Amino acid sequence: MSDDADDIATRKMQFLYALRSKGVTDNRVLTAMEKIDRGPFIRGHFSDRAYEDMPLPIACGQTISQPSVVGLMTQALNVRPRDTVLEIGTGSGYQAAILSLLARRIYTVDRYRRLVREARDVFETLDLPNITAITADGSFGLPDQAPFDRILVTAAAEDAPGPLLAQLKIGGIMVLPVGQSDTVQTLIRVVRTEDGYDYDELRPVRFVPLLEGLGRDT
Ligand code: SAH
Repeated sequence: MSDDADDIATRKMQFLYALRSKGVTDNRVLTAMEKIDRGPFIRGHFSDRAYEDMPLPIACGQTISQPSVVGLMTQALNVRPRDTVLEIGTGSGYQAAILSLLARRIYTVDRYRRLVREARDVFETLDLPNITAITADGSFGLPDQAPFDRILVTAAAEDAPGPLLAQLKIGGIMVLPVGQSDTVQTLIRVVRTEDGYDYDELRPVRFVPLLEGLGRDT
């Protein structure tokens, strides 16, 4: 192997090791994360840190989540091959790309047109045709495509937004960060049952806030 290839292989091994050591143990999730290179989702001078288990800045003042958090959220979502999944908060598109290897169809929504456009470019380059990226205020979900088997929210709200709860199928699962603080929130999992919703708390996390309306591209 060339030095470069050697380097990449080592970094990838360390990346997977970091995921496992932080509790990402589901082999399907690990395999998807091994296949989807985080590099293309990070533009500019942070791209050489793509394999570190850290959140990094992306355009429009947003962040690409920490890989281990992406892994833990994906694992908690328990995606099945025939599922239709809605993601709120496209950001870089990295999380949607991982989901696209695990489910049949992914809809991902962001309030920044620019992020949606850039994410679409990466999906096309990586040949991930089962992802549809849409610019919209995700607090309202995506009524035209509802209901969903799984919903993943990657921005923090005070509570689970009503329209998202309503767009979850019975038996469906939603994973999202909730809390009033900007600095720490709780990742929760909501399961829709025949007669209501079951909630459980997973772990503390830190996400950017879920904001109203469309964003102004920067
Ligand atoms: N999942 C992303 C990281 C998300 S960062 C990744 O894999 O890179 C959170 C994203 O949520 C930001 O891009 C932000 O613009 C978006 N966001 C915040 N409020 C939103 C809303 N109401 N509707 C849609 N997107 C929203």
